[in-house]
Order: sequence, then C-alpha cells, then structure tokens
Amino acid sequence: MSIPLRAEGLSKSYGTIPALEGLDLELEAGTITGLLGPDGAGKTTTMRLLTGLIRPDLGSVWLAAEEVTGQRASSGQIGYMPQRFSLYPDLSVDENLRFYARLFGVRGPVRRERTDRLLHFARLTEFRRRRAAALSGGMKQKLALACTLIHTPEVLLLDEPTTGVDPISRMELWEILTELRDGGTSILVSTPYMDEADRCDTVVILQEGKILDRGSPAVLRSRFPDRILEVEAEPLGRAAKVLEEAQFVKDVVPFGTRLHLTMPTPETDPDRVRDLLEKEGIRVAVVAETEPSMEDVFVALTPGGEGS
Ligand code: ATP
Repeated sequence: MSIPLRAEGLSKSYGTIPALEGLDLELEAGTITGLLGPDGAGKTTTMRLLTGLIRPDLGSVWLAAEEVTGQRASSGQIGYMPQRFSLYPDLSVDENLRFYARLFGVRGPVRRERTDRLLHFARLTEFRRRRAAALSGGMKQKLALACTLIHTPEVLLLDEPTTGVDPISRMELWEILTELRDGGTSILVSTPYMDEADRCDTVVILQEGKILDRGSPAVLRSRFPDRILEVEAEPLGRAAKVLEEAQFVKDVVPFGTRLHLTMPTPETDPDRVRDLLEKEGIRVAVVAETEPSMEDVFVALTPGGEGS
C-alpha cells in the first residue's frame, strides 16, 4: 500500500533564516505522527510546505503516488488546521460548521448527518447554538477540528491544536485524534508539549529546522543513555540548586512539582541524593528511579544539552 503523505528532503529558508533543513517524513495510514519542538523549530513551516501553501527551496511532497510539491492540497485530500484557525465569532457553532461545509461542497442530508456526528464527536452538541466568540479556548479548538473534518479527509495536519488549551480539553482533543487514527486517518500533529509524545505512534523531534531524532516514544526512551531519578523535596527550589552543584548529577529538570535528575548510569544511587539534600536541611519525600520523560529525552538531544 502506498504511503498517504510523504516528504523528501524538504528545505526552506526565509531570506537568510533557515527554517527547515532536509526533512524526510512518511505518514502511514492509521497512525499519529507527532512533530515535537519548541517555538521556532520549524513546525508551521513543515505544515505549510506539506499543504502546498509555500514552496520548498529543495525537496518534494507526495500524496500517495502523486507528486504535489508546491501545489495547494485539494480539500478532499488533506484536512489542515492551522494554528490560528478562522472561526467566525458572530456565527454559532452550527453556523460555523455550515459555512465550512458549504466551502468544501458538502450539502444536504450528508451535511446534516456529518454535522450531528462531528458535534457529538467533539462533545459540542449541547453548545451548537452558542456563538463561537462565547466558547472557551478548548471548545474553539474542538470546533475548528470539527470544521476541518467536515469533508472527511484521509490525511489530517494539525498545527499545535492543543497550545493554550486547558488540560481537560487537551485530553479530549487527544481522545478525538486517537479515535480518528483508529478509523484509519493519517495524522500529523505538531506540539510544543513534550508530554504529548506518548499519544503518538511516531515522534519526530525538531529543533532549529533539523530533525534531532525520530521513532516511537518507547524507542526514543530506550536510546536515552542515562538514568533518571525523580525527587520530591521541600523547598524544591533549594533542592534544585544543591543538586545542580553536585558533581554526580548531570542535569536537573523541573517536572511538575518534582525534579528529574539525569545521572550517569553507575552513579545512580538514590541514597546519595537523599543524604546530600538532608545534610542541607531539605525535607525529602521521594527519591526514586523513573522512566525518562520525553522532556528528558529532548534535553539530552538538544545541542548544548547535557546529553550531547
Ligand atoms: P512556533 O510554534 O513559534 O510557530 P514553529 O516551530 O512553528 O514555531 P516556524 O513558524 O516554522 O516554527 O518558524 C521556523 C523559523 O522560521 C523561525 O526562526 C521563524 O522565526 C522563521 N520564520 C517563520 N516564518 C517566517 C516568515 N514568514 N519570515 C521570516 N522568518 C520566518
């Protein structure tokens, strides 16, 4: 079976700023690929190149067996939800969906059936008469996704759909994406949140326009060279400072209300960490070995990061 969407050696500069360098990508049917990277990594540029909104300086884009480099993707093929999706604030949820249905040529009973299904899918049925302006940030993103899905695309590109969205809506959005994936849709989703990597089948880590690594979350974790100790202590700020100065700790990364310590493997000794902190009068609740988070993996991959 052919790959629904493929890119080979995509490069793009804006003037003298290189935004993307030699990106290869294959989106397989029924999978979620996550494009992970901080602000300015090249995520939006990738999306715009794949949808033909901009032309690459080098490289090609393929939709199934057809080369489409620099051609605007037709709506039947790719659904694209840009970072700033245009909802009409004065129109209701229903009216926004009707607008996009008309735009994509979806009419009559098919439109009504899809609207009902998507509203249900996006958990928005009870808000269908609410004006878009009055929706929460998370609801707006779910409505934007529903509008993008009205023409049932087989390939879906989503540019940071969860940025600035509350945790519950973020979870709901990911549940929706997982359902779509299980129904056979190929999804590329960009995110600056490393913790979302675990929702993806494949992760591509981008920084400054270059791929740092790629693979399943499990494979990326398995390549992590060190061990991680999770520390819960009070006061946490002082604990971080003490540990940053300890010779046997390679790196200290805040992780919610805890710290993740990167330790060179032979030195992984929770008691050593506990003793050091307690000697400084810091109360230690937990020191335990844990799996590296995707944030830890990213830090290790980053040029200048401890793992490089
Ligand atoms: P963000 O989440 O901040 O949008 P991103 O990962 O999507 O980041 P891009 O928007 O693709 O990254 O930007 C990649 C690089 O290209 C950045 O250095 C950015 O400043 C630059 N860039 C993007 N668009 C333009 C443009 N139209 N003109 C000049 N430089 C640009």
